Amino acid sequence: LFITFEGGDGSGKTTQAQLLSDWLAGEGRTVVRTREPGGTELGLELREIVLHSRGHISPRAEALLYAADRAHNIATVVRPAVDRGDIVIQDRYIDSSVAYQGAGRVLDGDEIRGISLWASEGMLPQLTVLLDLDETVGRARLDSARTRFDRLEAEKQEFHARVRAAYLALAEAEPGRFLVLDAAEPVDALAESIRERVSALL
Ligand code: C5P
Ligand code: MG
Repeated sequence: LFITFEGGDGSGKTTQAQLLSDWLAGEGRTVVRTREPGGTELGLELREIVLHSRGHISPRAEALLYAADRAHNIATVVRPAVDRGDIVIQDRYIDSSVAYQGAGRVLDGDEIRGISLWASEGMLPQLTVLLDLDETVGRARLDSARTRFDRLEAEKQEFHARVRAAYLALAEAEPGRFLVLDAAEPVDALAESIRERVSALL
């Protein structure tokens, strides 16, 4: 079982992915937690490059760096774990690329998806939890946590609005794969909705 978490910056992906992992582990399941970018040693190097050279990397080069991170993480972490029968819970995946490199950086979403599927050899999650949040709220949350303030400040609100709209369009196109939740709901209520949906897949 392969489950991904998607949503804008500050939407609570990491928190919910961790709560779900803890619950599944408590149920006796073997869980592998991973993320993009940066789920492997190579991925951590690529993460440094993409996040610290933002604005200096051409959009297509950036898209290929994310694809490289994805290819290596899928081949060395995700696919082996799924083959063993483990549950893989991942922060961000192909939908992030379609939203950020596609809609955000204004590249063709279908081409980005094509590159991503090539990189992952067609690996798709059974469930994608989309934590939908107004982009201004997401930014404010991160600001108040005093994390990544500068980077977020450097990015345009408009960019995040395009990312959000792209995510919602992806969810609408594949309602069977997506669970769309209002990320402004309380943490516990969100966790409960996610557990309910995941229970049906176990
Ligand atoms: O989810 P996480 O906080 O690790 O993501 C770090 C940053 O990487 C995000 O702020 C997001 O803007 C960026 N990102 C991206 N394209 C992706 C994945 C992440 O621009 N495909
Ligand atoms: Mg996070």
